[in-house]
Amino acid sequence: MNCTKCDREAVMHAAYSGTHLCERHLFESVERRVRRRVREDDMLPADATPDDPETWVVGLSGGKDSVVLTDILHDTFEEDPRVEMVALTIHEGIEGYRDASLDACEELAADRDIRHEVVTYDEEFDVQMDDVAEDDPLDMAPCAYCGVFRRDILARYADDLGADKLLTGHNLDDEAETALMNILEGNVEQVAKHFDASLGPFDERNEKDGMIPRAKPLRDVPEKEIALYAQLRDLPVHMAECPHASEAFRGEIQDLMLKLEENHPGTRHSIMAGYEELAGLAADEYGDEDREVGECEDCGAPTTRDRCRKCALVDAVNAV
Ligand code: SF4
Ligand code: ZN
Repeated sequence: MNCTKCDREAVMHAAYSGTHLCERHLFESVERRVRRRVREDDMLPADATPDDPETWVVGLSGGKDSVVLTDILHDTFEEDPRVEMVALTIHEGIEGYRDASLDACEELAADRDIRHEVVTYDEEFDVQMDDVAEDDPLDMAPCAYCGVFRRDILARYADDLGADKLLTGHNLDDEAETALMNILEGNVEQVAKHFDASLGPFDERNEKDGMIPRAKPLRDVPEKEIALYAQLRDLPVHMAECPHASEAFRGEIQDLMLKLEENHPGTRHSIMAGYEELAGLAADEYGDEDREVGECEDCGAPTTRDRCRKCALVDAVNAV
């Protein structure tokens, strides 16, 4: 089969758009969607200048999504003095898995000359996720601890690094799955939060609750295309899955989504189009509610309780 745009041999078929793309046109198509998202979300404000550049902290895990995101952003903004990029890698203390992916991150950062910071749960909290998964003092899934620790580090380091935005490599599949999960769980407040945190326009969600705004420039690109892009570009990527991955519900949603997309191409795109509109309405509804956000009495992190969740979890884990 030939490429829809030229007569070279196609390397992929996108059923949702009915196109076949050759390697070159796949590259162009992925990069175009990332740049369009940056533009449409107004990620680069007009007042960013070479003297007062935007600092973008990119979460770099070494998996395909964050590696592709970092590489495309670097390519796009390397020569643009209005943007300074910092890659931030978090080491959770997961033997085998995270060491190999850290190598991928270091290779990419060194090769592209990108500033790279590595933070470990060990140094921050005296915690290793391998131990947490084994001891599990609060009888929850490992990811429930890990997500709280990660969010704490991302928020603090983004702040320390002077970040204007925090960018992550969530792709179309991730986002459509999250959307569907929020809806199936009937969690309208979570839908509103999703909008405030990463879907709505930046000028409306700047610094909400003292949080640095998030951006997900890969959110229009399906996972399969990102994987193929990484492979054909020969990017340093670590493919393995975390041994503690435990989100069973997400797994079911993933299976469902694959089936829906196969039988009804374009489902992920239409879920996101409708969901974004819905989430905007939910955010309007919840946005006016005054939530009392104070500071954690131990670490100063923003929280609605006396002590933040992270401090409570660190105590529980270290009490074992
Ligand atoms: Fe942490 Fe769960 Fe991700 Fe593993 S899969 S790194 S435990 S959040
Ligand atoms: Zn705290």
